[in-house]
Amino acid sequence: MSQLLAGKNILVMGVANDRSIAWAIAQSLSAQGARLAFTYESERVEERVSKLAATIPNSIVLPCNVTVDSEIDTLTEKLKEHFGVLHGYVHSIAFARTEELEGLFVDTSRDGFALAHDISAYSLTAVAKRIYPLMTEGGSIMTMTYLGAERAMKNYNVMGVAKAALEASIRYLANDLGQFNVRVNGISAGPIRTLAAKGIKDFNSILRQVEEKAPLRRTTETAEVGDTAMFLMSDLSRGITGEVIHVDNGYHIIGV
Ligand code: NAD
Repeated sequence: MSQLLAGKNILVMGVANDRSIAWAIAQSLSAQGARLAFTYESERVEERVSKLAATIPNSIVLPCNVTVDSEIDTLTEKLKEHFGVLHGYVHSIAFARTEELEGLFVDTSRDGFALAHDISAYSLTAVAKRIYPLMTEGGSIMTMTYLGAERAMKNYNVMGVAKAALEASIRYLANDLGQFNVRVNGISAGPIRTLAAKGIKDFNSILRQVEEKAPLRRTTETAEVGDTAMFLMSDLSRGITGEVIHVDNGYHIIGV
């Protein structure tokens, strides 16, 4: 079978290390022939991201902290220079202060709420609004979300509220950008041990519960998310937009 993403140029934001979900996504995309542009948040992770990207043929690496508009503008210019046309955008970025990810949601601070929403939800729109004009041959945008957007989950707190805003953004962006043949979707992944997950208190007990209760009786692997992301980036998913697909071994369907 020919490669599903041959000739497609895709932006991947959110690789921090080789455990990042974005890294597994990049591998699935590259295996199907996509050309990738990676971004890194700050100089702190530049070397690590560049080393990983060096293992993916024809990829480029660019800086972009999503809280800074001028950095997103520069990223857009560089993508236009390098690729001309963009076909895909993977958003795999989130942040909340550790102290907001334990205890009670009712104690969330004003600036902690704003920060979590700025990085974890608004950044999808901030980047989408600049890059969709590069998707002149149609495009696919996807982001990463979690069950905490739909249910009140212990210790997820403000991040759950930010993910709910992110999931609503998927629907509004899908409705806006459909006329340009640009699709917007999300993957709601089961819990996976990554850098971001380290911030969530009692993460091990969440993993144990999934292993015991999920219909498939196992936790989610990043490669499972990577392959679903590949499907969403490919023409196989051409009829799907504004959707959130659960890649969680079925955990979201169970009752308590
Ligand atoms: P990760 O720590 O590897 O990835 C988070 C990424 O966000 C990092 O690359 C970090 O550099 C980036 N980031 C944070 N602030 C940024 C900023 N200001 N500018 C640019 N980049 C910034 O962890 P991950 O688990 O791979 O997380 C990726 C996505 O998947 C997140 O949206 C997360 O909420 C979501 N998710 C994770 C899980 C899980 O259990 N790990 C489950 C469902 C959804």
